Amino acid sequence: MTTRIRASKCPQCQKPATEKYRPFCSERCQQLDLGKWFNESYRIPAEEALPSNDEDEGY
Ligand SMILES: [Zn+2]
Repeated sequence: MTTRIRASKCPQCQKPATEKYRPFCSERCQQLDLGKWFNESYRIPAEEALPSNDEDEGY
């Protein structure tokens, strides 16, 4: 059984991905993508879970 992994392209710059930074070609692209992700998820107004203080601790 020969499972050949196709050379994937870097989602950032479309260069061939490298083993180390798959599916990206370099650390830079990896970081870029992470940053993008972070920004996007940061933008989405997450449910602002305010700490509810209506639960008095028995003190
Ligand atoms: Zn890249």
